[in-house]
Amino acid sequence: MRSALPKNAFVYLLIFVASIALFYSFFAAPDNAEDISLSQVARLVKEGRVADLSLTNDGIIRLTTFEGKRYISRKEPNLGFSETMINLGATPEQIANIDEFKVLRPSMWENWGIVLIQIVPLLLIGLFLVFMLRQAQSGNNQALSFGKSRARMFTGDRPASTFDDVAGADEAKQELQEVVEFLKDPERFTALGARIPKGLLLVGAPGTGKTLMARAVAGEAGVPFFSISGSEFVEMFVGVGASRVRDLFDQAKRNSPCIVFVDEIDAVGRQRGAGLGGSHDEREQTLNQILVEMDGFDTDTKVIVLAATNRPDILDPALLRPGRFDRRVIIDRPDRRGREAILGVHVRGKPLGPDVDIPTLAKQTPGFTGADIENLVNEAAILAARRNKKMINMEEFQEAVERLIAGPERRSRLISEKEKEIIAYHEAGHALVMLNLENADPVHKVSIVARGMMGGYTLSLPEDDQTLQSKAKFEDELAGLLGGRAAEEIRFGDITTGASNDLRQATRLARAMVTEYGMAESLGQRTFGQKEELIFLGREIAEQRDYSEEVATLIDREIKGLIDKAYERAMQILQAQRDKLDAIANLLVEKETIENEELLAIVKGEVKLASA
Ligand code: ADP
Ligand code: MG
Ligand code: ZN
Repeated sequence: MRSALPKNAFVYLLIFVASIALFYSFFAAPDNAEDISLSQVARLVKEGRVADLSLTNDGIIRLTTFEGKRYISRKEPNLGFSETMINLGATPEQIANIDEFKVLRPSMWENWGIVLIQIVPLLLIGLFLVFMLRQAQSGNNQALSFGKSRARMFTGDRPASTFDDVAGADEAKQELQEVVEFLKDPERFTALGARIPKGLLLVGAPGTGKTLMARAVAGEAGVPFFSISGSEFVEMFVGVGASRVRDLFDQAKRNSPCIVFVDEIDAVGRQRGAGLGGSHDEREQTLNQILVEMDGFDTDTKVIVLAATNRPDILDPALLRPGRFDRRVIIDRPDRRGREAILGVHVRGKPLGPDVDIPTLAKQTPGFTGADIENLVNEAAILAARRNKKMINMEEFQEAVERLIAGPERRSRLISEKEKEIIAYHEAGHALVMLNLENADPVHKVSIVARGMMGGYTLSLPEDDQTLQSKAKFEDELAGLLGGRAAEEIRFGDITTGASNDLRQATRLARAMVTEYGMAESLGQRTFGQKEELIFLGREIAEQRDYSEEVATLIDREIKGLIDKAYERAMQILQAQRDKLDAIANLLVEKETIENEELLAIVKGEVKLASA
């Protein structure tokens, strides 16, 4: 992908300068001719001593005498050489006696020399400027030229990796399978008029394998892979980013079916106008260009755009609109089983000692991403090599784990056994409460693997799209949100900061019930406060109070009432089913992720409970 141009340009320049030097030494050799006046020339002519004489059209006279002495002189501009000589007393015969009389029509070499002398510095300055520009544009050492010529750099490679190289992440693979099918045989889909998503957003923490996954999709389908990274555009000149995006898509369309991958799209795709100090023009133009390109796809454009980000929350909403990146594929941090599988991929082909126990290693590395695990295996291999071993043993792996865990950025992500238990109870609390409430959304998955800022998560999805929500539903939702904290209190008699996000959500929901939906009896059927909203951004800007202090107190009391009641319900459910709470929490500590079926089995009492 990297252009070899700049190095070559330097070589060319050197050759160029060298040849000019040679040139001079051949044709413009310094002549040690003596400068004489025209009358002295005339005297030499009259004396018949001139052996040969040359005259250039710009009036330079060179002559050599029979003794071999060389002279140079200058002719008067508007008078011929012969006339001048005659004026100075020479006769035509004497002139004709000159052995060799040459008139050099354009005195080519001399003129060339002058031209070159004037041009070379200009050329040098020009080249220098071009180099400076390149340097400035690329920031790193990637070469870059303006617009068109850059296009050559986007040669889509055909990745060799397939889904087999991406361990775990089965859900994501399933979602991307459709894309693979389409790219393999687009006509099958287009013939039926099927619309395939243009853009998919891969969302996941750094190192979870987004880039790997994108390449694997191309590899599975056997199509070219064109990629750029959002961060490349940040320090560019205005206009360059947009033109590169244009080039990229041009190339891609010419090589379709194929994949365009925009890595780190958040670098260009931040909300426009957000942040202090105004917007970054370049970023904005680049982003706009991406949108323009995607909007320009017609039904038979067989290009699928994948983008990766670890910050979907800061993306410009325009990117997420239908017809753009309207599908999200979440790539989670791997749970224990996932880590086991990833370890399996990375030890492939490495000589392992018989004592290496992959499941144990998976257990010891909570919070590790795929990239961390790759790193771990590599460290272990290096350690073994340093010890002159022929194979990697468990002790090297163990040592590598310790090293990686001790690393600074690691420590914050790693959870202790105690914390793990707290998070497990917290999530089990959410899940169990929700499973017991008639109106709550079904629970699909519970996990204690950190996702974003949260310690764990309980994934519940509504069964169908509901536009009308009932008060009972809201109340159940509140209880579910508070189930996490309630479980902590029941099990440990103490509470942690882990529930802060739940509390914020619960407070917001309760406030909306009171002030927007008129669901508080003491306040009656009305709304409170006028909100100004930027509708299409979905962000509240300011709230205007249209009620008195007393009403404000009432509102606060109602909100507290709703939340207290919900907490009470959550406590009751969990206390009544303490055995199930323990069972779910223990299973979470053990497996880190529980799917819906296992959960239901516990709740329905199909699983024998240890503590029962
Ligand atoms: P991201 O783009 O999400 O930051 P990468 O795709 O660059 O992560 O992953 C970095 C490396 O980590 C990959 O090259 C691969 O070796 C390893 N890796 C990450 N996830 C997995 C996985 N699920 N299976 C196997 N290896 C993985
Ligand atoms: Mg990446
Ligand atoms: Zn919670």
